[in-house]
Amino acid sequence: LQRDPHELEFIQAVQEVVHSLQPVLSKMPQFVHVLDRMVEPERVIIFRVPWVDDKGEAHVNRGFRVQFNQALGPYKGGLRFHPSVNLSVMKFLAFEQTLKNSLSSLSLGGAKGGSDFDPKGKSENEIVRFCQSFMEELYRHIGPNQAPIFDTPLGDIGVGPREIGYLFGQYRRLTSQYEGMLGAKGVQWGPSNLRPEATGYGVVFYAKEVLADLYKDLKGLRCVVSGAGKVATCVLEKLITFGAIPVTISDSRGYLLDDEGFDCGKLALLRNIKIHNKSLRDYTKSYPRAKYFNDSKPWSVKCHVAFPCATQNELNHADAMALVNAGCQVVIEGANMPCTSEAIEVFRQSKIVFGPGKAANAGGVAIQGLEMLQNTHRVQWTPEDVDNKLQETMKDIYQKSLKAASDFGIVKSNPEALVYGANIAGFLQVAQAMLEQGCV
Ligand code: NDP
Repeated sequence: LQRDPHELEFIQAVQEVVHSLQPVLSKMPQFVHVLDRMVEPERVIIFRVPWVDDKGEAHVNRGFRVQFNQALGPYKGGLRFHPSVNLSVMKFLAFEQTLKNSLSSLSLGGAKGGSDFDPKGKSENEIVRFCQSFMEELYRHIGPNQAPIFDTPLGDIGVGPREIGYLFGQYRRLTSQYEGMLGAKGVQWGPSNLRPEATGYGVVFYAKEVLADLYKDLKGLRCVVSGAGKVATCVLEKLITFGAIPVTISDSRGYLLDDEGFDCGKLALLRNIKIHNKSLRDYTKSYPRAKYFNDSKPWSVKCHVAFPCATQNELNHADAMALVNAGCQVVIEGANMPCTSEAIEVFRQSKIVFGPGKAANAGGVAIQGLEMLQNTHRVQWTPEDVDNKLQETMKDIYQKSLKAASDFGIVKSNPEALVYGANIAGFLQVAQAMLEQGCV
């Protein structure tokens, strides 16, 4: 870490894990040098992505693929297109992904890729050209046994089914392979039902488990949600199903508060606003009692549970204090590392129960495991079946985290038990596999 002191996000992610691993390392010192190696990615690929806009002007972006750890299986991890993407962000996401895949009991390693390209405001043709140019280099480093990114239409920030489709088209053209996508052969063995929804739904299932242990039910609880993308809108949808009262949604321009709570009709309107890249303020034209706050975050809104679902470090010390004052009792991360270390310290001191992203948002990768099972048995489970299995999986992740924490003396009533547990459980599997493989 001393080699790259400017990689702030990566250092933050590693420090959080190292902190949680203290009880493990003092009992099992053989893992100390494994950890030293584990925080170094196996391979980092950085490449030029030249593309031409609709006016004929040339642009160049930077592309990344961080192949972090392959001890448990082929590299797995989505792509992010956002101007803030840099090596530090890629490394932190790939490191988190490694532990998340391990925690989800998948035989998959961890990776992440992306670019500092901003898809916002680009025409369809510009997106196609960028994706093709990006794939022109990436295809050399991915494949069914290296980095099967195409077996999932899920992406990350700025990458959804549209971008995945264009990337896949170019990959297929360059390699003459139809691998990865839809179990290789036919549309009838398509992606599992609920794939796009799995991360967001999983976050709420995880929250349900946390609340059940506090003798609480989601029904009637006021929930504050940030973000307005794939994860946030699916969190909203599931909260509504469970009778919770989600009252906020936000994006990079501001946040929207509907004190009466969103319902399915309101959510459809919100999705329509975002699809057309309009302001969340437009919602108030249909629901004048709702309020829109420009350039603000929703953390001072009265709530029982908070779900940060936008981006890393969106919730800082001051925001955490605002949440405490707003009566928040539980924080569940939908995004990857949305809370700063200082915010987590505030939660710890205020005894707010905290569910970390690497466990709470693991539903997307977990569904991947279920999909592989469906393809092997050539069956397609109904959305209800997948929903039930996802719920069981999130329960399993929650319980596995608690058990790992308890094995190392961290009791359930510790507000940070779930952080310790997720990090310990994720680490131990990867570390053991690395040891058995000669620590390479
Ligand atoms: P999307 O691109 O679909 O949505 C991201 C949302 O966050 C947008 O509403 C965006 O606003 C908002 N946002 C981005 N940056 C900021 C910022 N600096 N301040 C405030 N709001 C911001 O991404 P996803 O929903 O897919 O991903 C969200 C988070 O969840 C990420 O941390 C991602 O790594 C994590 N995640 C996603 C998974 C998935 O399956 N998609 C799986 C596991 C984790 P705007 O609309 O204005 O751009």
